[in-house]
Amino acid sequence: MSVPDPEPGPGEVLVRVAASGVNFIDTYQRSGAYSMKLPYVPGSEGAGEVIAIGDEVTSVAVGQRVAWCDAPGSYAELVLVRATRAVPVPDGVDDQVAASALLQGLTAHYLLDGSAHPQPDQTILVHAGAGGVGLVLTQMAKAKGLRVITTVSSDAKEALSREAGADEVLRYGDDLAERVRGLTEGRGVAVSYDGVGADTFEQSLAATAVRGVVVLFGAASGPVPPFDLQRLNAAGSLSVTRPKLGDFIADDAEFTWRAGEVIDGIANGTVKVLVGHTYPLAEAAQAHRDLAARTTTGSVVLLPAH
Ligand code: NDP
Repeated sequence: MSVPDPEPGPGEVLVRVAASGVNFIDTYQRSGAYSMKLPYVPGSEGAGEVIAIGDEVTSVAVGQRVAWCDAPGSYAELVLVRATRAVPVPDGVDDQVAASALLQGLTAHYLLDGSAHPQPDQTILVHAGAGGVGLVLTQMAKAKGLRVITTVSSDAKEALSREAGADEVLRYGDDLAERVRGLTEGRGVAVSYDGVGADTFEQSLAATAVRGVVVLFGAASGPVPPFDLQRLNAAGSLSVTRPKLGDFIADDAEFTWRAGEVIDGIANGTVKVLVGHTYPLAEAAQAHRDLAARTTTGSVVLLPAH
């Protein structure tokens, strides 16, 4: 689709996109699971070079390399980014990593320090451990001293999840909670991180310890059906939360703090972003098919032709 080149307004910068990040939420928006005003250009994340700045922009200069995660229409060659959300990319971090680091990295950051607060030596469960969020969440959790149990669907994904630091890697299944309890002296985990949704939610609840938290942060397998809150009482005073990234980065100061920690972690090697798959921008549809078909690992990136 061809649209006129955008021009930066006050507080905005225009970026020539080097790479765009593909996230599962893009598939919810494309499919209509999250409704969008049509027509729209998908994507919200990327990295590239600033080529023009609008009035009142002082934090970013023309020629600088930046990354972002909340600029609608990022599957494009040119994107407008709010200057306050354009994060300078350190020299040692390449464009593809930068383009797919923030949305998943910030998500992992607020999941561990925002929607729940697991403490060192506690055990957590992370579903889809070899996915984009899963790999980063695992590494950040290990850096905090947590014990991490993940789920994956294949041997290849198991190997990646272990490389990211997972202590135990399990396959999905109806007895998953029992197996998790077997690995936690019967107690269950302090926090279950569930981005898979419909297929795993019941096992997440059953695998969580008394007074623990189930963080339902996605629905890769479909949405969780309506739920009787009284079950949380019977299951041991559990909490369930259904957070979204936007609420943990709405404030510029909070965004800057979280983004700084994510980028620093990548620059100093604490967190390695695995760019599992790249596609030409023109093949974005195939990237969505592959993400939905569970054939991807790590992050997925689109490369414009320019
Ligand atoms: P992933 O790279 O993790 O891809 C999704 C993974 O989910 C798949 O690779 C697959 O791993 C697993 N999965 C299990 N069942 C299914 C299924 N039926 N269909 C498709 N995938 C399935 O994606 P992202 O890292 O982009 O996102 C992970 C989750 O986090 C998504 O649910 C996303 O919406 C959510 N998210 C939520 C945010 C928030 O703030 N609430 C922000 C960012 C992401 P396997 O084959 O090993 O099971």
